[in-house]
Amino acid sequence: MARTFATVRDLLYWEYAKLIAGSAMGDRAAYGFVTVTYNKLRAGKLTPSAIVTENKRLIVEGEACAYCGATAKLEWEHVIPLAAGGPDTIDNLVRACRACNAAKGARDPYQWLLDQPGKEVPRLVLGKMLKLLFEAYEKRDLLDSSEFMKQNDIRRRTLAMVFARMSGASE
Ligand SMILES: [Zn+2]
Repeated sequence: MARTFATVRDLLYWEYAKLIAGSAMGDRAAYGFVTVTYNKLRAGKLTPSAIVTENKRLIVEGEACAYCGATAKLEWEHVIPLAAGGPDTIDNLVRACRACNAAKGARDPYQWLLDQPGKEVPRLVLGKMLKLLFEAYEKRDLLDSSEFMKQNDIRRRTLAMVFARMSGASE
């Protein structure tokens, strides 16, 4: 869907709304539901943090690859790669099998999966990533800057550039 957004906040709320639709309706493309949820988020009637409790899910779901569900040869995987400035904290870690970890490489989940037909970012991974992105943009006071969004051509696959900006010595 070639939808454009004025700010990072709107883009992230739209992605949250799709995530919620996936959980509630079993379909992230249930656009009637997505639109209603998106409008609630924008109106402050729903907050992302009230909905997503991904760290708990991680413990409940236990030992399975967050991307493919495999249970063998699991490793810790950084959702936003360290090489891209992602933090080395539990918020940024999931369990992944060796094959998924290697295939993903130094890309974030959007960069890895958006080009692959029929693939979407798994719920657990997307929840963690959106939370990290929201906090990073909030910290830099860039959630509502349409200027920043336009200048940097922020889309799903470029969202994580905020981490490079945060960790780099110069900009
Ligand atoms: Zn896997």
